[in-house]
Amino acid sequence: MGISVIRSLRFFSATLLFCLAFVSTASTETKPDHFRLPSVQHTPGGVAIIDLGEADAATPTATFNDIPVAVVKTNHGYRALVGIPLSAKPGWHTLKIQYTDGASALHEFEIESKDYPEQHITIQNKRQVNPNETDMVRIRKDRTSIANAKRYRHKTTLGLRFDVPAEGIQSSSFGSRRFFNKQARNPHGGMDIAAPEGTPIYAPADGYVIEAADYFFSGKCIFLGHGQGLQTFYAHMSKIDVQPGETVKRGQKIGEVGATGRVTGAHLHWSVGLNRTWVDPELFLLE
Ligand SMILES: [Zn+2]
Repeated sequence: MGISVIRSLRFFSATLLFCLAFVSTASTETKPDHFRLPSVQHTPGGVAIIDLGEADAATPTATFNDIPVAVVKTNHGYRALVGIPLSAKPGWHTLKIQYTDGASALHEFEIESKDYPEQHITIQNKRQVNPNETDMVRIRKDRTSIANAKRYRHKTTLGLRFDVPAEGIQSSSFGSRRFFNKQARNPHGGMDIAAPEGTPIYAPADGYVIEAADYFFSGKCIFLGHGQGLQTFYAHMSKIDVQPGETVKRGQKIGEVGATGRVTGAHLHWSVGLNRTWVDPELFLLE
């Protein structure tokens, strides 16, 4: 069968924003709102939602930059949820779709530019900005562990929308271009919630503990999987209450806010990941 190419405008996908996604394995304790699709934003750090067709056919698979993306069943058919990397260039991008009958399709969608502000941070511990050789050994090990955690995905969708995981002051600094002690570093891949040390952190949806670790930059941290490669990440914690392999329920305490790793004060760094890329957590928050 030939490959068809579909082009859609972002406004088309945006109309799907309020669709309910019905998932057969939904927890009875989780409200349907937690299965509402995330908000659409066709920019670096945003989420694209692509229509994959009828719901009565077998579940198709889709890849973006050769990485499998989340595919969820809604009452209007299958939808692919595509995390757009902060490094993505504005312009047309392609989602590759594979149907179970052997047919395939290419769906092109447009990514618009977004200007994220600069953020300048002063870190007292200079080794956290310019690590020494011993630190670098640990950092390389951390990077492997992080890459492995981000690769993890399980099939069952446990949630698509999140509660705020901790009480505190939310920053909207996702995507900001960061300078530590005047040196350019990676953009900010999450939302910071300022709160005193010891503030409880709760699972924002049902999930699975992929990894619990202590990294050079992130400090004590947890990766939760919510199905189909949708993940949440919690960093700089003072205390971790869960272990890899455990399942967690929405609202369950998973740890406490702290100031471990590279920080200027106690806060929760919270990231949301899709197809191994960090996207804006605000697109997933339940109001
Ligand atoms: Zn942060």
